[in-house]
Amino acid sequence: MITVEDLHKSFGDHEVLKGISNTINEKEVVCVIGPSGSGKSTFLRCLNLLEEVTSGSITIDGVEITDRKTDVPKVRAQVGMVFQHFNLFPHKTVLENITLGPIKVLNQSKEEAEKTARELLKKVGLADKESVYPASLSGGQKQRVAISRALAMNPKVMLFDEPTSALDPELVGEVLAVMKDLAKSGMTMVVVTHEMGFAREVGDRVIFIDQGVIMEEGDPQEMFNDPKSERLQSFLGQIL
Ligand code: ADP
Ligand code: MG
Repeated sequence: MITVEDLHKSFGDHEVLKGISNTINEKEVVCVIGPSGSGKSTFLRCLNLLEEVTSGSITIDGVEITDRKTDVPKVRAQVGMVFQHFNLFPHKTVLENITLGPIKVLNQSKEEAEKTARELLKKVGLADKESVYPASLSGGQKQRVAISRALAMNPKVMLFDEPTSALDPELVGEVLAVMKDLAKSGMTMVVVTHEMGFAREVGDRVIFIDQGVIMEEGDPQEMFNDPKSERLQSFLGQIL
């Protein structure tokens, strides 16, 4: 579903991604871990063209999105992204937050978009919240709305950037449960997370990024139980 070849990304003369190559299969759930500042968010942002890559290529479902001729809004519509800080529109209701993209970008009718939005809200346990504004929601509820909003675009791939890091501990579980359901439904997912329980249970593979390169990758159980590199050992020692 996703092929990344020798991806480099620099900001000025600061090279953040130093040659990342990887293939992510359809329906695979890949968890990305690594120290702060190692380039995890930059990697995700390159996957939906929120960042322009410096060199290398990214192909998603057969389309080379790093080709200059790519229709960028179309790529973004097909690659859903969920951020740490939700990024909901504060002056729009929950329903409006979810229907905006489908109406504007996918040219859906309001009725059609609302029907899908209501189905999604029901799935994430927020059927009764469609008319409220984000400010009245808990962090966990906001993140479930953000996930619904991304899914309303019917994406081929979902990217999550530390989706539970800003949440109070008691709200983490409700968001992880929604993500687990999504994984079970067969969605291809790339998840930057420090939730090792989620990575073990739901992840098909873990990628450890350190200083802009993939230092180590593999089966979650094996990586956590028997880390090969010293850097992964020390990273796991810090977070577990
Ligand atoms: P992580 O998500 O692993 O914590 P990031 O991808 O956010 O790491 O950042 C990696 C490095 O890239 C950091 O040194 C950060 O300061 C730098 N960086 C990220 N975005 C920008 C930007 N827009 N401009 C300049 N530097 C950036
Ligand atoms: Mg980050």
